Amino acid sequence: MKISSADFVMSNSDVAKCPKDKLPEYAFIGRSNVGKSSLINMLTHRKNLAKTSGKPGKTQLINHFIINKSWFLVDLPGYGYAKVSKSTKKVFQKFITAYFSKRTQLVSAFVLVDCRHEPQKIDLEFMQWLGEHQIPFSIIFTKADKLSKNKLETQINMYIEKMLLYWEEMPNYFITSSSSGLGKEDILNYINQINTE
Ligand code: GDP
Repeated sequence: MKISSADFVMSNSDVAKCPKDKLPEYAFIGRSNVGKSSLINMLTHRKNLAKTSGKPGKTQLINHFIINKSWFLVDLPGYGYAKVSKSTKKVFQKFITAYFSKRTQLVSAFVLVDCRHEPQKIDLEFMQWLGEHQIPFSIIFTKADKLSKNKLETQINMYIEKMLLYWEEMPNYFITSSSSGLGKEDILNYINQINTE
C-alpha cells in the first residue's frame, strides 16, 4: 500500500469522544520506549507524525491519525498496570481496556515488543487479555537492526517457544526496524488486504 496522506485527527483519553466515522481502525500499543512512535513514523513516511522521545511516561492519550482518507491508525500510550484500590489485583489502565472493549471500528491491534528482550510479563498478560476479549492482534518485533541476523532468529524462536506455552498457535507477527524500514511493506500490505477484503 502506498501512503498518499497521513493526518493527525485528534487526541483524547475518552473512547466515547473518538472519531465517529466507521472507518477500519488499527491500534498500535506496547510498553514505553518499545519504538512505537518510530514505527508509526516509518510506516507513514513522516518524520514526526507520532512524537518520538526515548523518554517513558508520555501523556496518556488515544491518538487518531487518518491514513489515505480511508483508515485510522491509532497510537495508544505505553501500557502499564493500574492498581485497583484496596486490592492487589493488577489491571491495565482503564481507558486502554475501555478503548479495546468499546471501539467497534477496531479491526486489529498491533502489540509491539522489543526483539532484544525476553517475553515480558506485562506483554504476555496484555496479549492474554486481548485473546480473552477476542480482539485480533499481531505482534510486531521492533528494533531488528540492533541484533545480528543469527541472534535475531534465536530471539524470535525463543519468543515463539514461550508464546506456545500459552497459545495453541503463534499469533501473526512481523519483524521490523524503523531504521532500515524492514517490515514496512508487510504491515501495510497486511492492512491493505484486510481493508479490501
Ligand atoms: P516509543 O516510546 O515506543 O514511542 O519509542 P520511540 O519510537 O520514541 O523509540 C524509543 C527509542 O528507541 C528512541 O531512542 C528511538 O530512536 C529508538 N528506536 C526506535 N525504533 C528503533 C529501531 O527500529 N532501531 C533502532 N536502532 N532504534 C530504534
